[in-house]
Amino acid sequence: MKEAAEEKTVRQDKPPDIKSMYPEELRELVKAKGLPAFRSKQIYEWIHARQAAGYEEMTNLPAKLRTELSAEYPLVTAALVDRQISAVDGTQKFLFEMPDGCLVESVFMRYHFGNSVCISSQVGCRMGCSFCASTLHGLVRSLTASEMLEQIYAIMRETKETVSHVVVMGMGEPLDNYNNLLRFIRLLTGPEGINLSQRSLTVSTCGIVPNIYRLAKEGLHITLALSLHAATDGQRKKIMPIANRYSIGELMKACGEYYRQTGRQITFEYSLISGVNDSKADAQGLIRLAKPLKAHINLIPVNPVRERGYEHPDNAHVQAFKMELENNGVNVSIRRALGKDIEGACGQLRNRYVRS
Ligand code: SAH
Repeated sequence: MKEAAEEKTVRQDKPPDIKSMYPEELRELVKAKGLPAFRSKQIYEWIHARQAAGYEEMTNLPAKLRTELSAEYPLVTAALVDRQISAVDGTQKFLFEMPDGCLVESVFMRYHFGNSVCISSQVGCRMGCSFCASTLHGLVRSLTASEMLEQIYAIMRETKETVSHVVVMGMGEPLDNYNNLLRFIRLLTGPEGINLSQRSLTVSTCGIVPNIYRLAKEGLHITLALSLHAATDGQRKKIMPIANRYSIGELMKACGEYYRQTGRQITFEYSLISGVNDSKADAQGLIRLAKPLKAHINLIPVNPVRERGYEHPDNAHVQAFKMELENNGVNVSIRRALGKDIEGACGQLRNRYVRS
């Protein structure tokens, strides 16, 4: 398999843009420019706590400074290209354009516990999972921390709603963009920004083992979701190229370490594909993997992707699969199929634009 499963992450050689800077980096910048120290707090607050779309909004800064900063440190903003609102459940799907023209998808969802935003971590993806639309055209590039944050900030500006939960489950493999992801997490959950609770943040991975160990040591309290989708290596290899690199045994060990270090229950995502991974034996295999970790299982009836030809099992079969797990003491939920009328599956909206 080509580079697809490299644990190497995309290095950030360039200095971070101003929206990707930690408070202490912004303090340094302000100091180096010979400005009074309190300016850094003001600027940080405008960017992160108030999600300013441009320097012109920062009315407590002198006009000259605003002009200077916008020339020297342009603010990364996500420009709205398309917004679709589901007539069924109010889910909103956004297509944003980043400063270099890359297109990125994000989704806004309402739940009983609050509003949740699903963001992308890369433009395209190089993991090659056979059921996923995001990977059809490969990886274009990784997103910076500011580009991940901007998806949330732009949605807050557009909807005028608060966001209490964030899931990194859009396009891309977050653990293939480790440094930017970490920066994003720290900025999003830092007390000076929107201060999202780490417990309300979920990062989903196809299972890049070395980076699961790394993440376990970061001292964070975020939820890790593992895209498992099969209970045996042979079966997993058929649908997920990453399985050629790391075995399920290695994955379970890494997840065990994550659970031990963080105390956070792991979620296994399991996309049910008719005739592929939805038999009783599959359920039994899944139970054997989930039990020692006390993992929560999230079943996702596969969202059919035109290019792939997979179908999801009918509802009765999904319920039976769920019952099998529950009867064996496994904690399980079925992902609510939100936004069915607006191309809900990862990468679908963008693909329509990239194709045409
Ligand atoms: N790269 C990360 C996160 C992105 S995808 C990962 O692999 O976890 C978020 C979840 O949606 C993953 O579990 C992914 O496997 C799943 N997914 C992707 N395409 C899907 C589809 N067509 N139907 C159902 N689930 C899908």
